[in-house]
Amino acid sequence: MFKKILVANRGEIALRIQRACSELGIKAVMVYSEADREAKYVKLAEEAVCIGPAPSAQSYLNMPAIISAAEVTDAEAIHPGYGFLSENANFAERVEQSGFQFIGPTPDNIRTMGDKVSAKQAMIKAGVPCVPGSEGELSDDAATNKRIARAIGYPVIIKAAGGGGGRGMRVVHTEAALVNAIQMTKAEAGAAFSNPAVYMEKFLQNPRHIEIQILADKHKNAVYLGERDCSMQRRHQKVIEESPAPGIPRKLIEKIGERCAAACKKIGYRGAGTFEFLYENGEFYFIEMNTRVQVEHPVTEFTTGIDIVKTQIMVAAGEKLPFTQRQIQMHGHAIEVRINAEDAWKFTPSPGRITMWHPPGGPGVRVDSHAYTNYFVPPNYDSMIGKIIVYGDTREQAMARMRTALNETVIEGIQTNIPLHRELMVDSKFMTGGTNIHYLEEWLAAHKR
Ligand code: ADP
Repeated sequence: MFKKILVANRGEIALRIQRACSELGIKAVMVYSEADREAKYVKLAEEAVCIGPAPSAQSYLNMPAIISAAEVTDAEAIHPGYGFLSENANFAERVEQSGFQFIGPTPDNIRTMGDKVSAKQAMIKAGVPCVPGSEGELSDDAATNKRIARAIGYPVIIKAAGGGGGRGMRVVHTEAALVNAIQMTKAEAGAAFSNPAVYMEKFLQNPRHIEIQILADKHKNAVYLGERDCSMQRRHQKVIEESPAPGIPRKLIEKIGERCAAACKKIGYRGAGTFEFLYENGEFYFIEMNTRVQVEHPVTEFTTGIDIVKTQIMVAAGEKLPFTQRQIQMHGHAIEVRINAEDAWKFTPSPGRITMWHPPGGPGVRVDSHAYTNYFVPPNYDSMIGKIIVYGDTREQAMARMRTALNETVIEGIQTNIPLHRELMVDSKFMTGGTNIHYLEEWLAAHKR
């Protein structure tokens, strides 16, 4: 096992990894930008290294600074968390070339999955069902593209091969709008992801977002840890996640889960990963794979009792998965809400000093956050300041616990989206379960303040 790991991230996930290291008896080296000096995990750290000024490009995305921090502290491995460099194949390669273990898949696997066109092709080969669409990247030939769209049937969605974070997508309803939409998405993709390649998919009208968590080791073992329903989204960004997905037959989940685990074995995948699907009319359609730990991993930790971050570290060190598929049992129900420093109704960011931080507690309540009273939320990064995750024997009990937890939570000095979560937890349709990916935006439109 490693003696020392460098955590190449910030925020709640940096703290989460630090906690896993501590449980495993591993020393964690934390890195921080000048804006994150005050973060909880930096104060708790035995060793912490400043890697640059506030802008991510000069700190959390600064590969030489991170690698030299690992060198000067004698770390053996680097955990990239999520976001930032976590899905950057060049970074994974440089980490390994510098003699460190990258806690994640091979650079090759990251590269294949990071390009949504090659990811889809790999999945089709591995027998994972995909959204009907263009065979690969779209050319500039208008007539060909029109033919592809007609064959798929409108509406279609144009997506950037290198896209992420819900950006680089455009829905097209008519042939008249197609050529222009492709041009615009290409231009945006080139600017945002330095990769102008785009592809076309059928735009599913009312799907749910269902994803399968997997874990794999370096010995060709791979398991799935059930599913998460992440349909509650705004601008393609997840807001609430839960497991299991209400109303989907276990048999269907098992079938798709087995396909995902088999695909991992086939491509020699290692570490944690998530297969994202759209689910409509009883069918799963693969959209992309995330080759890292996800924000919403705690709901799966609650329902399976498996520590995903600890397992990531153990398999990176070469250990075998400590459980087989048959030993993985799902129990109860877990729900996560993301706490963002933003106006609950206008969504404008609300950075600043937290003058009062009172997190909830009680049975089945988990709070993952690096914030505390007097913590200053820097304006430089994502607005997520933490997550509340609850567990219950049933979905109803989990919802009741979430309502209690949200009522207990006091955060002052900045605005947060807690008021929005409080209302969603008493919304009758959400309480019934099974809402689709458009539900939250429709709800917001109908509940304008
Ligand atoms: P990103 O990497 O930016 O998160 P994804 O491919 O995972 O992009 O898609 C994000 C979200 O966009 C999905 O959860 C879904 O809400 C929507 N979306 C993507 N592809 C389609 C599609 N073919 N039909 C309908 N909605 C889609």
